[in-house]
Amino acid sequence: VSRNPEEPEFHQALSEVLESIEPVIAQHPEYVEAGILERLVEPERQVLFRVPWVDDSGAIRVNRGFRVQFNSALGPYKGGLRFHPTVNLSIMKFLGFEQTFKNALTGQGIGGAKGGSDFDPHRRSDAEIMRFCQSFMTELARHIGADTDVPAGDIGVGGREIGYLFGQYRRITNRHESGVLTGKGIGWGGAQVRTEATGYGAVFFLEEMLSVRRDSVEGKTAIVSGSGNVAIYAIEKLQQLGAKPITASDSSGFIVDEAGIDLELLKDLKEAGRERISAYAARRPSARFVGSGRVWEVPGQLAIPAATQNELGSDDAAALVRGGVLAVAEGANMPSTPDAVEVFQQAGVLFAPGKAANAGGVATSALEMAQNAARERWSFEDSERRLQAIMCDIHAASFAAAERYGHPGDYVVGANAAGFVRVADAMLAQGLV
Ligand code: NDP
Repeated sequence: VSRNPEEPEFHQALSEVLESIEPVIAQHPEYVEAGILERLVEPERQVLFRVPWVDDSGAIRVNRGFRVQFNSALGPYKGGLRFHPTVNLSIMKFLGFEQTFKNALTGQGIGGAKGGSDFDPHRRSDAEIMRFCQSFMTELARHIGADTDVPAGDIGVGGREIGYLFGQYRRITNRHESGVLTGKGIGWGGAQVRTEATGYGAVFFLEEMLSVRRDSVEGKTAIVSGSGNVAIYAIEKLQQLGAKPITASDSSGFIVDEAGIDLELLKDLKEAGRERISAYAARRPSARFVGSGRVWEVPGQLAIPAATQNELGSDDAAALVRGGVLAVAEGANMPSTPDAVEVFQQAGVLFAPGKAANAGGVATSALEMAQNAARERWSFEDSERRLQAIMCDIHAASFAAAERYGHPGDYVVGANAAGFVRVADAMLAQGLV
């Protein structure tokens, strides 16, 4: 804490992981002797840079750019870029740290990183977004590469932004290096199912957890937060598997649609129109918009928080428990506070932490890298099958590690332990670096 003052999100992520791997450390003194923990909590490299750009009125704007290359013991750095006004070094470090274990869990040979900017894309014109992305990439380009560091999207960075970033990378380097970014368009090196992967993956994970109790998502009501990439495709997969998602949200409030979310309308408003969530209720008679209040007070058996970190506190968890929740899968990164996780676990609710439940996105990014390297294109069906198999493997690895380290059914311990052991073993084998 004294070494990294004022980094609360990073401390939160560290204490969650370090506490839950105590039983692993107790069985493996060699990790302590090799200084694995001290090395793991220190990013290998942190790049902070200036991003100057010109807005539509001709005024000069300056934002701050970040890339935290956390750990490359298992493969090239890999992790998304976030454009949001709240972005700071603490958030980048928490996300890069989490990403390291998540990527290890996928079993795909990718290291952990995160990056982004405090740039706010809301209400910016398309031309402003393009100029910002070009300026951001002008500096980032020297730090990334298909075998070095492969960024992708996150909050505020979707297909449009990846397109502008890739265009500028190609222009600066004079290389059509497909593997340098993932989340590309299908026509120019992108992979099938990457857009859907994080949301779909979270639902596959839910289904796996429920199957241990001989149950499934079918016929259950689901409470989903967010209305971005992860939320939309979680809703889509829930509907395909016979569940009924009834909520969505953004930073202005949430909607409840007792008839079940009209996915085409939601996509139209959010993906095509970039509108506020209240527009959904204005167009759908069965829905109501709630501007102040908590989406978690809406009763349902399944919950997928898919907006942002610390969006679900202990009161929210208690409300979900009162509302009959059986299983929670984190679509976002660290959306539940530590107190909320405790409420779920004490109530016997199945709880999947983000690093396991939302790993489908990065796993499919690794499939995109594999296709780029081999100059291949896999079909949607094939890619979705692979995604589902990866989520089943992550579930199995987390479940087995929880048992092995004395916390059966605790997916927080299981996911942290399974990811940690893979990274720690690679670091041990590679010596003091
Ligand atoms: P998007 O930008 O597509 O959507 C984010 C959604 O969350 C929007 O509805 C946004 O509302 C809402 N949101 C963001 N910040 C806040 C906030 N401070 N308060 C309330 N609502 C907020 O992002 P993604 O769907 O890609 O990401 C969502 C989460 O999932 C993040 O935690 C991300 O790190 C995580 N994740 C994403 C992956 C991916 O593949 N995209 C992979 C793994 C994890 P508004 O528009 O009003 O800001």
